[in-house]
Amino acid sequence: MAAAPPIPTIQRSRARTLFVQLWAAPTSLLGLLVSLVVLASGGSVRRVAHTLEVALQPRRLSRTSWWHRSRFGAITLGHVIIGRTHAELARVRAHERVHVQQAERLGPFFLPAYALASAAAWWRGDCPYRGNRYEVEAYAVDDPSARYHAEKARRTAAGEAIQSPNDSGTRHSATS
Ligand SMILES: [Zn+2]
Repeated sequence: MAAAPPIPTIQRSRARTLFVQLWAAPTSLLGLLVSLVVLASGGSVRRVAHTLEVALQPRRLSRTSWWHRSRFGAITLGHVIIGRTHAELARVRAHERVHVQQAERLGPFFLPAYALASAAAWWRGDCPYRGNRYEVEAYAVDDPSARYHAEKARRTAAGEAIQSPNDSGTRHSATS
């Protein structure tokens, strides 16, 4: 079993922590609203560092085939991370923490900026998800193929060609 990727840690003063939590609060509030639905349907929550990790109910996962068919891994809304299971949340933690940092950086502008970045990726003929600059940044912490996408975007902008990566790259569930 592969070791979990390292989790970026940030040392902050209490004032700075309070500021980034308030700045990201509009996005976190949306995450809390989604979490209420998940918890009301039997999900569970854990506090991990300065985030809340919310997992769907395992029995619901086995009953509802949509979850199995979908590539949904986890979604981060501010300081709230919602995933299929707590094991899955631990596996994608490093990636999702990058989205937490993005939400802390952009505050209420994060979700509009994320949507615009997907639109920009689609406009230049790239995948709206994997070509999204915020995903490129997040995948760079745990997926070498993210460097391919970052390089592809850079070279496309510069009008240069790039070789396809080999197929030995790690496969990942869809995470947002
Ligand atoms: Zn992501």
